[in-house]
Amino acid sequence: MNDYFIILGAGKGQRFSQKKAKQYFDYNGKTLINHSIDRAIESKLFKKIVIVISKKYNKFYNKYKRMKNILIVYGGKERHLSCLFALKKISNQNPKNVYIHDAARPNFSIKLLRRLKKALKKNIAVVPYIKSKSSIKYLKNNKYENLVRENILLTQTPQCFDYKTLYELSMKNKSKATDEAAIFIKNNKKIKFINGEEKNIKITNPEDLISNKTNYHGIGFDIHKLKKNKKLYLGGVRIPHHSGLDGHSDGDVILHSIVDALLGAMRKGDIGNVYPNTSKKFKNIRSTKLVTPIMKLVIKMKYRINNIDINLICEKPKVSVYRNRIVKSISRILQVDEKIINLKGKTVEKLGLIGKEKAIACECIISVDKYE
Ligand code: ZN
Repeated sequence: MNDYFIILGAGKGQRFSQKKAKQYFDYNGKTLINHSIDRAIESKLFKKIVIVISKKYNKFYNKYKRMKNILIVYGGKERHLSCLFALKKISNQNPKNVYIHDAARPNFSIKLLRRLKKALKKNIAVVPYIKSKSSIKYLKNNKYENLVRENILLTQTPQCFDYKTLYELSMKNKSKATDEAAIFIKNNKKIKFINGEEKNIKITNPEDLISNKTNYHGIGFDIHKLKKNKKLYLGGVRIPHHSGLDGHSDGDVILHSIVDALLGAMRKGDIGNVYPNTSKKFKNIRSTKLVTPIMKLVIKMKYRINNIDINLICEKPKVSVYRNRIVKSISRILQVDEKIINLKGKTVEKLGLIGKEKAIACECIISVDKYE
């Protein structure tokens, strides 16, 4: 696998907004450009994903910079220069194929990537297109001509190419090409056109960002007994304490109530039917491992978490001492911003089992948006 996926995201998009480049607006719960990055990563089809950005927006990429299959390149003044910079940057890595994609198209599918890859085995250039649904007139020498609609191809991205051919043509190219297919056509090189996707639209106007979403809430509750000689885990953090939480797994009441709240918000039952405690598979398992598959489901079903409010109910440990570490840990496990997590500590005036430090309980409420 020596294929590279280049995402062009250095454009200022000033037609869209004077304040912020288009690709940094929210679309379906995340930044527009992140849709393309995340899908390319998820496809597992590429050795490296090259993100071409404007230096000004460097801080948006801290999460990606830590990944070894991500390469950040600063773009040029024009689209074709940004693309050339990226092609140059990877020239010493001997790439076989390269996919060029506009950050303004967030909706391409992994299926499309696979079809492109397949077609590229027998071609040096593969470009997806859709047919025009509108009738088209063409202005030539101050006169309008009718174009035959059936002969019009509306090209999309990602477009994919044999790296060497594209690099050589791009080096020679002096014009402001609006896509790489244009450079191939100009040089009389053969392109294989394949069916694109209707949903693979280019976000052009602010109205394109408005999405259909519905808000849901889920509630979670959990309680475990404390037991001597067990390690205590809360929110995935190991906490020094006289006892740990007894249970089939590590008894992490925070993570268990988060799982229940997420399942509740998605109307998918509860932790008991997903992870039956009769199953040996989950015996003594760290609860962080129970959260990951649920989060995969959350993302797959197009839910986005807005807010997590947690009450940890215990006399000790003191929540204020561990709050930051626990919040950080939950944010890492769920891959959400720390800012949307609120953790409160509640004591029970030394009443009952919790008051006598024989148990710890946790409740939480999670708000999610489901995107269409
Ligand atoms: Zn539990």
